[in-house]
Amino acid sequence: KTLVHGDQRRLFNTSNSRMTIMPAWVIDRYGSNDVLRFTKNAGFPIINYPNEVVVQVHAAGLNPIDVSMRGGYGAATMAMKRDPLNINQSGSEFPLILGRDMSGVIMECGLDVAPAYFKEGDEVSKKPKCLSHIEAAAVPYVAATAWSALVNTGGLNKDNCAKKRILILGGSGGVGTFSIQMLKAWGAHVTVTCSQNAERLVRGLGVDHVVDYTAGPVEVPLRALEKFDLVLDNVGGDTESWALGLLKPWCGAKYVTLVTPFLRNTDQLGIADGMLQTGVTVASKALKHLSKGVHYRWGMFAPNGLALDDISEMVDAGKIRAVVEEEFTFSQVPQAMLKVEKGHARGKTVVKIS
Ligand code: NDP
Repeated sequence: KTLVHGDQRRLFNTSNSRMTIMPAWVIDRYGSNDVLRFTKNAGFPIINYPNEVVVQVHAAGLNPIDVSMRGGYGAATMAMKRDPLNINQSGSEFPLILGRDMSGVIMECGLDVAPAYFKEGDEVSKKPKCLSHIEAAAVPYVAATAWSALVNTGGLNKDNCAKKRILILGGSGGVGTFSIQMLKAWGAHVTVTCSQNAERLVRGLGVDHVVDYTAGPVEVPLRALEKFDLVLDNVGGDTESWALGLLKPWCGAKYVTLVTPFLRNTDQLGIADGMLQTGVTVASKALKHLSKGVHYRWGMFAPNGLALDDISEMVDAGKIRAVVEEEFTFSQVPQAMLKVEKGHARGKTVVKIS
């Protein structure tokens, strides 16, 4: 439960005489950037379940999925998540507040929230002490995605990376810049593909080898390199047709792609058929590649508090830094969305709220 605008804190007294509205950017329908509407009267979040907290958001990180969701991507899945029993009428998600990444301060805790873990006044998501809210808001979504893809799906961890060669397709964006740092902190050898003008950024994060994908078919120089133990694909498109051939065969090497049709399937086919279609697609691709001695996997963002705790420690130990490319004010949310929509990210775009 989040998204409380900073200016409103003054109005917040106690949980018995709490405010009911707050300023927010909302959408009333899905579409292009002009659907964004500023209102001073958005509903204030309430605690529905005892394990929830309300957070006063100081800074919000933007992700490509926020732009996609502004256009309706994932609407079927999100509607089910918000209203699993389908109690509300269709279209009732509006006015909808977009966004998923933030750093802020806890205002209120549900009854089941252990004070040892979260209490009023805490900076979340267990914010690394050395980061500002702006920097911290650039971390959670890409960090949890990188962790899910590399650790849970890819089987990597701090103790088994030392002799591994990892290839990241698309090293210069949010997930790429975070994944590079995590893998380097764990001792892996990291190769990335990126545009020539991003080489300095990724080298500064510790990358061992850079391949400029704008110089020609990128698979050609990649095929000339020693084979890899894991490929993380942040790019998609035709990459699947050649990237699995870059893996060491018959030794557990994995291709993990984050660019999957999962939400598109559920949008188009409904939840049940979409999930079925997803299962069939991923299983048939996995089987096809298994016969060639390599593993094919889909990576997915997954919330993971314990992973974020580990990541906070790595940040506070100076092993990972937040890569903030551009900062916008709260009144510039539409400009921030446009920036993300245009692509060519070099790290993260963040909105400062208070
Ligand atoms: P960003 O927009 O932050 O970064 C994308 C980066 O890729 C940019 O730096 C871009 O720069 C670069 N790029 C574009 N085309 C290529 C190419 N052909 N080769 C190499 N680099 C390229 O995105 P994120 O890092 O946040 O996300 C990456 C992908 O992962 C997205 O498709 C996103 O939707 C997906 N994702 C999936 C999740 C899941 O749960 N499955 C969760 C999170 C992300 P430039 O164009 O200048 O080269």
